[in-house]
Amino acid sequence: MLRSVPATESFRTQADIAPSFSIAQLPALVAQHGSPLLVLDCDSVREQYRALQAALPYVTLHYALKPLPHPAVVATLAYEGASFDLATSGEVDLVRAANVAPERCIHTHPIKRPSDIRYALDYGCSVFVVDNPNELEKFIAFKDEADVLIRLSFRNPQAKSDLSKKFGCSPQQAIEMMQLAKDWGIHVKGLSFHVGSQTLTADKYVAAIRACNDIIRSTAALGLPAISTLDIGGGFPVSYCEEVPNIDVFCAPIRAALDELPETVHVIAEPGRFIVAKAMTGAASVMGQAQRDGKTWYYLDDGLYGSFSGIAFDHGHYPISAPFSTGEVQSCVLAGPTCDSIDVISEDIALPVLNNGDLIVSQVMGAYTSATATEFNFFPKAKIVVFGASNTDSVSSIA
Ligand SMILES: *Cc1c(COP(=O)(O)O)cnc(C)c1O
Repeated sequence: MLRSVPATESFRTQADIAPSFSIAQLPALVAQHGSPLLVLDCDSVREQYRALQAALPYVTLHYALKPLPHPAVVATLAYEGASFDLATSGEVDLVRAANVAPERCIHTHPIKRPSDIRYALDYGCSVFVVDNPNELEKFIAFKDEADVLIRLSFRNPQAKSDLSKKFGCSPQQAIEMMQLAKDWGIHVKGLSFHVGSQTLTADKYVAAIRACNDIIRSTAALGLPAISTLDIGGGFPVSYCEEVPNIDVFCAPIRAALDELPETVHVIAEPGRFIVAKAMTGAASVMGQAQRDGKTWYYLDDGLYGSFSGIAFDHGHYPISAPFSTGEVQSCVLAGPTCDSIDVISEDIALPVLNNGDLIVSQVMGAYTSATATEFNFFPKAKIVVFGASNTDSVSSIA
């Protein structure tokens, strides 16, 4: 692995950082901004980025925008010296608006239209991902401007979301595509993979890195152009209701596997969830309640079609509590506001007896929550209030 200098870290003085967010502030924030509310704490984004960078010191971290494409997250990470992982033209617009240098971006959607490629190239992003010959062929037209990474598939049925089911090719197909690229004059810069989101053990990364190392060494022996980049994807886990290992411990076997790569290979990663999951805290209010089959149902102003959409799309289990209510604890049902019967957040959760208007607090709500929320039934999405952004103008501003 190429031990290049890690991204510049810029430490700021305490003076330009706003006071940190704490849950105790939620009632006042809801009184000011309304309910439902999501608080985005950029101090947490910064902390998570630095923790992952320390755990993978020679790896360039490209934040994958998909889990939380928020301008304050982009500004905070850009200020930290992070790089970015884009997948759509909308994501290109978001980093461009934040004045991110396009050289710090890669475009990793394996399937795109020529117009999407043109759009990213016009911004200045010139590294793209392909995983099949049909897609590779599109790059003949862009061969003088674009480099490609070939995405491999390593199945991971245990992950929250097995991202190697929909995308990626086999090692043999990758080698065949490298040969095709050579014939077509397209520059293959490297290999990439995504072991699956919220991957709980490092062995999936280790096996994928070793398989890529074999490809890197065997293609060099075949006389194919040298591979200079390995992209180890995202998937790094965070603790929701269950604890996961600390990121430094988690990454130790990954660091060891990366050390086996040829020295000329530069390693990059595409973390999404790990960077932002802890950064958002939700507040929702009880709109009404009913007794059904001996149980209390509380109907909240946020639900499965809103900030809790991750329950449906991301298999999410968020720590939920009612820290401002003091009644006796009992088992209850928490439901969302829409008229749809699947809009239930929890069928069985122990909470104090709640009054209408009481606040329900949900944590670890930063990744794949508001990003996938809808306004079904005309229930508006939760407003996002920002704390601690690097752009001091936007500190405590509303998104
Ligand atoms: C979603 C995605 C990521 C981010 O994955 P996390 O599991 O959130 O870290 C990275 N790269 C690609 C290509 C993705 O689709």
